[in-house]
Amino acid sequence: MNRSLLYHAFGVRKGYDYVRTVYGAGCIRFVLAARQELLVCPRCHSAQVKRKGRRFRELQTVPIGLKRVWLVTEVPQCECRACGQSFEVSPLLPRPTSGTRTGSKRLSKVCGGG
Ligand SMILES: [Zn+2]
Repeated sequence: MNRSLLYHAFGVRKGYDYVRTVYGAGCIRFVLAARQELLVCPRCHSAQVKRKGRRFRELQTVPIGLKRVWLVTEVPQCECRACGQSFEVSPLLPRPTSGTRTGSKRLSKVCGGG
């Protein structure tokens, strides 16, 4: 999978690295890992942050053909070395199901015509 395609077609934000693709029954999962540059303390804005663990969050995005597509995004669980704050870095990915209208909402229509 081309990273720029992920960024442009599926709304993956910069700061996440594409790791691999997992093919399931009727669906495709793109696994994304958070880059170190995203790990900044929300309280004191220090970048001196250590990872304590992580989980993954699945977000459904625009389909490819008949297959549903999920972005499996890493959510690092961190602790700030400077102030001790514990926090998670959650992905702020656009949700196709939300009511917000943006210019990218018609992606499936545009791509489906091809
Ligand atoms: Zn801090």
